[in-house]
Amino acid sequence: MKRLCIVWAVVLLLTTLPGCGAYMPVTVYDAQGGVLGTPDRLDFGTDSLTDAAYGDYVQLALTEAVIALAQAKDCSESRAERLLFSGGYAIHTALDPVTFSAVRSAYETAPEGLPFGCAITDLNGALCAVYSGGEASYALQPQSPHSAFKPLSVYAPALDAGLIHWGSRWRDEPYKQLKGENGLPINWPANATAQYSYEEESLRDSIRHSLNTVAVHCLHKYGVSRSLDFLEQSFDIDLTAERQRMEDADEDEIIGNIALGSLLVGVSPVDMAGYYQIFANYGMYTQPYTVTTIQDAAGTAVYTCAATARQVIDPTTGCIMNRLLQSVVQRGSTGEDAACENIRVAGKTGTDDLGTGNWFVGVTPQYSCAVWHGSNRDGNRAAALFASIVEGLPAHTQTDFADCAGVHKGTFCKETGLLFTRRCSKIETGYYATGQAPGVCDGH
Ligand SMILES: [Zn+2]
Repeated sequence: MKRLCIVWAVVLLLTTLPGCGAYMPVTVYDAQGGVLGTPDRLDFGTDSLTDAAYGDYVQLALTEAVIALAQAKDCSESRAERLLFSGGYAIHTALDPVTFSAVRSAYETAPEGLPFGCAITDLNGALCAVYSGGEASYALQPQSPHSAFKPLSVYAPALDAGLIHWGSRWRDEPYKQLKGENGLPINWPANATAQYSYEEESLRDSIRHSLNTVAVHCLHKYGVSRSLDFLEQSFDIDLTAERQRMEDADEDEIIGNIALGSLLVGVSPVDMAGYYQIFANYGMYTQPYTVTTIQDAAGTAVYTCAATARQVIDPTTGCIMNRLLQSVVQRGSTGEDAACENIRVAGKTGTDDLGTGNWFVGVTPQYSCAVWHGSNRDGNRAAALFASIVEGLPAHTQTDFADCAGVHKGTFCKETGLLFTRRCSKIETGYYATGQAPGVCDGH
């Protein structure tokens, strides 16, 4: 017994010494040098943070730091984890305290205390703020993005491929009939209004009113498999479950999942903020990151972030999508509550059919911001929260999106979607990539 006690004493002594498997805190800093916390392990407790609300952000930073350190030291991640928590390291992050406060204050001043998750990146992928309100880390949890996915899975790739243009017209009618519970056929997909116009709707109106029918028809024409390729190659989204289901049946089996964003695994607000960068940064995507540098105990930088941007869609497609998404916040559109005073925004709503939550994901000339909010019983509160957050962000040096080279205005006939002639009576302005404008109206 005495011998056993001595053994245990030695083990205890060893595990409390640095470099012998002991856990020592690292210090995690925000972008202004403030301390976010001193966690001593990956599953740290919130008492190691200067504010429990930094939990999501610090969790992301530690996970990233382990991978970064493994690469820097050319070792396994488990060894990097031991190193990180035994070497007196400092992790410097991109968290901007002013942006973080803007998110928190928008949530805390909202009347509901419902679940909430929000992430904001700059247009080069740096995560400026990640915040969850409620019982769980909603900002990090994968879930279905619903209609906020349509611009990514349908409209951007179809526009990029030249399949659609600003004036394109699609009939608002069911894509197919399914067998209902009572055996009778039911139309699919339903629109949010539970109605179909059975008329041709413009691309812009289809996006403004989030028509499920048009998204499905458009994806059918573009190709479901092609959209999966686009999403995986562009953003590394995990669509293994959808791909498997498609292979077991056919494209139609998952056309709704992809067109309407009912994903089997899903994406988090952090992911969505990342993807929407393409609508404010000329089609460029940078995977969101938190860690900017890691220093060892001697103050030497052992890792410096070198985030690389990827051209996901043509710059002109990014700009035209931006213009289309600006119309979502116009009066009478699904995202009208997201409109901001003194700053131009563009984005898209997403709503859960079951009433458990909704999204607004949008961009400003300097940021990309995803908001998820629990329960949609009183309309889309995520859109209003988005506006409240954006208006509280650090003073914007840019209040409008820059014009884009290679994109020009054109006037088109609203009845045919083609460029107008003097015989057309209903006309509207659209935006086109140079050389990609449609033909001249031949219907009048
Ligand atoms: Zn015409």
